[in-house]
Amino acid sequence: MTWNDDAARDLMSLGGRLALLTHGEGSWVHDDEGRRYLDFLGGIAVNCLGHAHPVFVDAVARQAATLAHVSNYFATPGQLELAARLKRLAGTGERGRVFLANSGTEANEMAVKLARLHGNPDGRTTILVVEGAFHGRTMGALSLTPKAAYRDPFLPAVPDVVTVQRSVESLEQAFAAGGVAAMIVEPIQGEAGVVELPEGFLARARELTAEHGALLILDEVQTGSGRTGTWFAFQREGIVPDAVTLAKSIGAGFPLGALITFGAASELFYPGTHNSTFGGNPLASAVANAVLGHIEDEGLLDNVNARGAQLRSGVAQHPLVAGTTGAGLLIGIRLAAPVAAAARQAAHERGLIINAPTDDVIRIAPAYTIGDAEVTEFLTLFTAALDAVAPSTKETPA
Ligand code: PLP
Repeated sequence: MTWNDDAARDLMSLGGRLALLTHGEGSWVHDDEGRRYLDFLGGIAVNCLGHAHPVFVDAVARQAATLAHVSNYFATPGQLELAARLKRLAGTGERGRVFLANSGTEANEMAVKLARLHGNPDGRTTILVVEGAFHGRTMGALSLTPKAAYRDPFLPAVPDVVTVQRSVESLEQAFAAGGVAAMIVEPIQGEAGVVELPEGFLARARELTAEHGALLILDEVQTGSGRTGTWFAFQREGIVPDAVTLAKSIGAGFPLGALITFGAASELFYPGTHNSTFGGNPLASAVANAVLGHIEDEGLLDNVNARGAQLRSGVAQHPLVAGTTGAGLLIGIRLAAPVAAAARQAAHERGLIINAPTDDVIRIAPAYTIGDAEVTEFLTLFTAALDAVAPSTKETPA
């Protein structure tokens, strides 16, 4: 098949048309015209082992040849292993519980239901979210997503969602108004442009939720599963949430999401209140166990931190780079001019995949397995892309 407008006409015009990708290996992907790209977006923070990694391929193949799917009337060994693994990595202790879903939006859908189960008995229905948040596209998760372009065509939304500004003062005002059942927040806002929360914001959110008997639910769909150099971003903040949602890197390309609860929040769901046909099916569970096991066995989080630091200092050399945000291998590169879209396009033309979540931010989220070769090639291609779009600094002769 050749990639052109005709070939695209059968797809709803909701997705990208940048190229027709046919196969990949490691950090590289190839299109139908024989072009090779260095993939530093990683399927938007998903392909944590790169493409066609033997651990991933082997897990899918073995499980497909054993047991691919069962109904949710049954449990499977892989599900039990994954739930125990996630509890251990999150540090929930014995009381923790895990539900396996298929995506980030679904995990967050369940977080909305968790908030209702917690708050409804005493009439507390407010769910606090943070300006710039992105929590997904299904109606519950979309209702938590304040971006007008995403949400407004689908109003009315789930009621009683209140947006706070990224400031401790705004947070305190929202709790003072009363009626808060839960706060749902990303430790680093990936879609907003890898935006960090102000110093002390999460710690204060933890204090206020505890004081007001509300749940603190962290959306770690993008930041979790090791992406920021710890298994969960909250582990660098010195706080323990009531629940965490996961997706993206947990399956390294296989669709999987999860809600992990801590302490009393683990007792809220009861039989009949939630379920999913595919959530945590044997294939997804086998892949996640293999992927997370490999990250652990190979000590890949050390590489995430080391390569993250190497990339940050590398890009900082370019005069168009004003700074970097994020942690580990979730990196926002802030440009000194609003040319991110042009830089993304220039990178694409040079065989580098990155994205531009805002006018002046480039986001990269490469595989945890990258080494010197990938970093060097990235810096070469990225520098060339920035050079191509940098506003001229030459002075006009008087
Ligand atoms: N939450 C966050 C923080 C995300 O970054 C995303 C996706 O980008 C989602 C939720 C939605 O996840 P999914 O696209 O798997 O439904």
